[in-house]
Amino acid sequence: MEIGESSYPRRHTRQVMVGSVPVGGGAPITVQSMTITKTADVEGTLQQIYALAAAGADIVRCTCNEIEAAEGLARIVPRSPVPIVADIHHQHRMALAALDAGVHCLRLNPGNIRKPEHIKLVAQECKDRGIPIRIGVNGGSLDPKLYEKHGGKVTPEAMVESAEIELAYFREVGFEDVKISVKASSVPLMIEAYRLLADTVDHPLHLGVTEAGPPPAGLLKATAGMATLLAEGIGDTIRYSLTADPVEEARAGRQLLEAMGLRERKNIDLIACPSCGRAEIDVIGVAKQAMEAFGDREIPLQVAVMGCVVNGPGEARDADIGIAAGNKRGHLFVKGRNVAVVPESEMVSTLVEWAEFIHEHGVEAAIARVDTAKAEREAEKDRALLLAEKGDDANASEQRVELIHKHLDN
Ligand code: SF4
Repeated sequence: MEIGESSYPRRHTRQVMVGSVPVGGGAPITVQSMTITKTADVEGTLQQIYALAAAGADIVRCTCNEIEAAEGLARIVPRSPVPIVADIHHQHRMALAALDAGVHCLRLNPGNIRKPEHIKLVAQECKDRGIPIRIGVNGGSLDPKLYEKHGGKVTPEAMVESAEIELAYFREVGFEDVKISVKASSVPLMIEAYRLLADTVDHPLHLGVTEAGPPPAGLLKATAGMATLLAEGIGDTIRYSLTADPVEEARAGRQLLEAMGLRERKNIDLIACPSCGRAEIDVIGVAKQAMEAFGDREIPLQVAVMGCVVNGPGEARDADIGIAAGNKRGHLFVKGRNVAVVPESEMVSTLVEWAEFIHEHGVEAAIARVDTAKAEREAEKDRALLLAEKGDDANASEQRVELIHKHLDN
């Protein structure tokens, strides 16, 4: 198995098309996010949609809560770089208006559009226009009747039943072009709800931990829930619901899928050592600078930032490119081979320049443009100097072990 490859079996589902983007049926798992602008603000919303797409969103949702929002969607959809989903709550009229605006998918919350005739009317319209619907069950807005029926609690069974009731209405008009989510803010609850749903239906599933909160806790909660399910083969499209700039949601979604080997790498995979007593630079600061310098550039390489030249190149030998500090200099290495030594202040810019070159021309061409023997000699000099200065035990571990024994033995 290659590094970064995934071996998770995917659950078999039917496929729906959200505009030109397939969801389910073996299609690559997609990333979604949602705009936080007023949808009536066409330019502001489009700007955010473009930022989300650049950060990794394949599909973007916008609220359609009033007539001005529907009008905004009519102007946004033709200019959007990705398919648009209209988020509908309470008013089925807004669903019909969003369809007239040309959206590629609707999201309906079965907890708050409850009249069967309204649900069936929207489903019939979607069927006639070939537009899919996401049934978006949310633990926090479950139909009160279901809540009561399930013992005054939100349970996985109640959430799945909510989706099934909605599906039954859709089937009455012959509409099955549906994906489903059963989100909850509790990670164990959403995991169980999705597992049960995956056993019950063959529709593609949209994963999420709702109202996960601000990062880093929100990121952890959402990742715990979604990654657990993805590793079980459950999930066809995902959304991080963070209390943060939605660009962070899109980026996190993309990064999760890439980290799990479920999507091809688009941006860099930055690895960095945790730093230790041997570190010659502020590893945290340099790693942050490197992340900022690469930004959303489409350079799908593994890039390493290592605190010292003694262990760095060896520990990160599988990285495509990396930099390690030593003797106030930055030692650049490509696939574990030293290729250049630069002043510390140029570490990050050199890293970016080499990464761009490798991305364009390949590793061999990059290595061929330098005298690697010279770089290796320089690296060896700094490595030896550091070893002489700090020895093998830079963290003074052996002294600490002696101290432990000294205290224990007395
Ligand atoms: S030994 Fe060097 S590369 Fe490893 S953690 Fe310490 S500073 Fe980083």
